[in-house]
Amino acid sequence: MSITYKSTAFKGGKDKHTFVFDLKNTAKNSSKMDSKNIPKLKNNELFSIYSAAADGTSTTLMKLKDNKNFSKEDLRVIGGRFYKEYKRLKSKTLLLNIKDFQIFNGTSDIDALQGFVEGFLLSDYKLQEVKSSATKKETLDIEVHTSGLKPAKVTELKSQLKESEHVSQAVHFARRLGDLPGNMMTPSILAKNAESIKSPALKVTVWNKTKIKKEKMGGLLGVSLGSAEEPKFIIMEYKPKGLKAKSTPTVLVGKGLTFDAGGISIKPSAKMDEMRYDMCGGASVIGAMKLICDMKLKAHVIALIPSTENLLGASAVKPGDVLTARNGKTIEVLNTDAEGRLILADALVYASELGAKEILSTATLTGAMVVALGNSHTGFFTRDDKLAEKINETSIISGENLWRMPLTDDHVSDMQGSYADLSNLASFRGAGSATAAAFLEQFVLKDVPYAHLDIAGTAWNASKRKSYHASNGATGVLVRSFYEYVKNA
Ligand SMILES: [Zn+2]
Repeated sequence: MSITYKSTAFKGGKDKHTFVFDLKNTAKNSSKMDSKNIPKLKNNELFSIYSAAADGTSTTLMKLKDNKNFSKEDLRVIGGRFYKEYKRLKSKTLLLNIKDFQIFNGTSDIDALQGFVEGFLLSDYKLQEVKSSATKKETLDIEVHTSGLKPAKVTELKSQLKESEHVSQAVHFARRLGDLPGNMMTPSILAKNAESIKSPALKVTVWNKTKIKKEKMGGLLGVSLGSAEEPKFIIMEYKPKGLKAKSTPTVLVGKGLTFDAGGISIKPSAKMDEMRYDMCGGASVIGAMKLICDMKLKAHVIALIPSTENLLGASAVKPGDVLTARNGKTIEVLNTDAEGRLILADALVYASELGAKEILSTATLTGAMVVALGNSHTGFFTRDDKLAEKINETSIISGENLWRMPLTDDHVSDMQGSYADLSNLASFRGAGSATAAAFLEQFVLKDVPYAHLDIAGTAWNASKRKSYHASNGATGVLVRSFYEYVKNA
């Protein structure tokens, strides 16, 4: 894909697709385009769209809701919707005019154009490599006309669009990790993908089964026992030159469960193939690290991804078995399908040992999260109000919906074990996401600000919520939020 910049006046041309916003219903862009043809907005609709094509050129008009403050995220959604139109019309070069983006209440022209382009680029994703005859990906050519914009603003626009290119590449990277099936995305392959990210400031270390055992990661090891695939513990440390030698890292932890059959407490067969997505927390964290590297952020960040399969082999953990986590706490496994918390526990203990300034973990952890918030919001749990505020601010910047959920001592007491210190299943029905977060919290050192983000509802199949997601498949959720969190720390 390429973005070129033109300071000349805005003209169409063969094989080009012009894009025009029409807020006031006055556009008459060419003889074949008339805003009268734009469908009327229905209730709650943000925009309606109308395109016409003739003589190798095409134009899309978009009518916007009146009297609305548009956020950058609204523009991403508009850009995502427009992408489908662009593809439908088989256009080649897309022409964008900065002037068209000067009509948005609440968002500057540069931010509006960036949001639009980001939504457009985020949409340009499809997993092709699993098919024997993969079609070659068409390149996107975008021509941005900046006529009337001051040179300093043009520079600003260019750097923001460059950022959006990196954002979309990192999100696509994470989506691909999520979409590849279990046999093509094992813990070893996931580790290789983490290692494929190149930056002089990044060091990737991968622990194998022997090392995991030696490091007393009893949760991760225990879950891996039912599988012939080796578990991996992936450590990605990003520390650019110029930081203090003793800087304290932000630690991101992501669940990398590459296929979850549920173990002996086996899941129902229907849609079990979707359990390839149980590593999407790990994918988000790896994608965020790629973006942090590509954007050369000045921050010390460590990502930890405990990775394994959860299967039913002869040595698999059985209900009632007791595992010992890295910090010595014992856990009785009442349901082998509540395995995410077992592998995250060891990673959280390790994160605390690294002297983390703060720890953010994410996982496709609980079905209860989907019941509570569906696929529109990622729920997060923290006891730290300051951290919650930071996450809320991040949510506004990234445009990803993050919603704070309760986490209290009641939830902790629900996770006490009968025989061991803890149980991996709550003793009381309901609030399954909060009790899971309460369990995880038991493995983080007191005084370290900690938040857990449950992406069970938002990691895949969320295209109805955001136009720029693929119609099915992984979303790459949280790549943008983790990046913005670190960038604005
Ligand atoms: Zn499970």
